Amino acid sequence: MPWIVTTGQAWKLKVFYVLIVLTGTLFARFVLSYNGIEVMPGLGEARSPALFLTIGIGAFLWLLLSIQCPTCDALPVWIVLREVDASRWLLDLSQSDRCPVCGQQGSPVRQD
Ligand SMILES: [Zn+2]
Repeated sequence: MPWIVTTGQAWKLKVFYVLIVLTGTLFARFVLSYNGIEVMPGLGEARSPALFLTIGIGAFLWLLLSIQCPTCDALPVWIVLREVDASRWLLDLSQSDRCPVCGQQGSPVRQD
């Protein structure tokens, strides 16, 4: 079973996915607005990239700061982002069976 599941943190990954989908939707709205198509005008100025940039950056900060190893207390997302190929880091994070920092296999119970 993946480390992120056994440590009870899979929901944090799901929150990240929701935020990324939202970012993509707002980016599409941004692009459409330049083609004269106004979608969801209640959300404010569609031609401003601030909304999708803020949510996109927030999604990565969320993932970076929320996922923590219960054994070594490290924030492994930063390590994975730095060391794993850009096309594979999310796959590695979601499927690895151990902490990328200390190598400990997931345990939902803290060991300290
Ligand atoms: Zn660890």
